[in-house]
Amino acid sequence: MIPYGRQWIDEEDIQAVVDVLRSDWLTTGPVVKEFERAIAAKTGTRHAVVVSSGTAALHAIMYGLGIGLGDEVIVPAMTFAATANVVVYQGGIPVFADVKQEDLLLDASEVVAKINPRTKAIVAVDYAGQPADYDALRQVALNGSLFLVADACHALGAKYKGVSVGYLADATAFSFHPVKHVTTGEGGAVCTNDPVMYARMNAFRNHGITTDHKQRMDAGSWYYEMTDLGYNYRLTDFQCALGLSQLKKLDSWIARRRQIADMYTAALAGIVGVEPLGTSPDGVHSYHLYVVRIKAEKLGFGRDYVFRQLREQGIGVNVHYIPVHLHPFYRKRFGTGPGLCPVAEKAYDEILSLPMFPRMTDQDVQEVIVALSKVLKR
Ligand SMILES: *Cc1c(COP(=O)(O)O)cnc(C)c1O
Repeated sequence: MIPYGRQWIDEEDIQAVVDVLRSDWLTTGPVVKEFERAIAAKTGTRHAVVVSSGTAALHAIMYGLGIGLGDEVIVPAMTFAATANVVVYQGGIPVFADVKQEDLLLDASEVVAKINPRTKAIVAVDYAGQPADYDALRQVALNGSLFLVADACHALGAKYKGVSVGYLADATAFSFHPVKHVTTGEGGAVCTNDPVMYARMNAFRNHGITTDHKQRMDAGSWYYEMTDLGYNYRLTDFQCALGLSQLKKLDSWIARRRQIADMYTAALAGIVGVEPLGTSPDGVHSYHLYVVRIKAEKLGFGRDYVFRQLREQGIGVNVHYIPVHLHPFYRKRFGTGPGLCPVAEKAYDEILSLPMFPRMTDQDVQEVIVALSKVLKR
């Protein structure tokens, strides 16, 4: 089976983790700070806060911005459920906006149509690893005095008009789940340039306590204050050691992902009934996913058939995503349903994610292309 995504762990990574396991600090020690500095440096941002997952990172942002009861946050319909769930964690209301047909990125004009006096923030998702339309979204946010958040869980290492993802919004979330660009097992990070946001999110991941264990050890004091309700969203030192070691390989891995994407794009140009998503020259796409549309009207059969055929042949294709507003939870709690975001819903019938991870060999890529073209020519 060629999976749709897979981590790449080498001996250097294993040694880095083992070194920390032999040290004094398993959690909240020096490697956490070191990893945070490395993430901030990589994205060109002032502050990074590492947390226990990408979802925790998004939750910390909602808290950091002060999203509370009844506040509305605009999120794209085409994303992983966590993007919207974190708004609900804070008592807020996720408002689903449609995406653009060509690239499935949040449509700034659809966002404008959803703004009202209760709207507090907009969440851009760099779907598949392609940066959202940050200039347009920033303008919409400025006009409405709204915060702009980036869910960049697909887009570590991507760039928009020469600027690193992480620097483009008031706060940006990353995930270190094994299918993402670099992994810590589970893990995530928030980047921000705002020192107040930084301080709030830093306390939020540690129960809302203003000092951490190491700071108290260093100061020789037992005293601490819990100033607000937070969570235990800490990331361990040995996970951060893995993250640091993985981060060294990020640039070469993105280069490899882009190579694989180029191979797919070139091959698909000659096959009827399959179309890659559009890409913009404004961005450096980091290709967390390579998503194609299966055009049923040209084939006489659709995505579901192609999915089943490829899975049977050991090609681990996947579908990203079921539009969030179609999930039973959102239908029940917020009364959402079909018709709310027609572009995302139509896309959902057609999209298929092909295997994409840096360790894929050229031969793996060829295998996927041959299997796909055989199914489509049937
Ligand atoms: C992976 C992902 C998340 C959540 O990250 P976890 O680390 O799995 O919690 C959130 N949003 C998007 C778009 C993602 O792809």
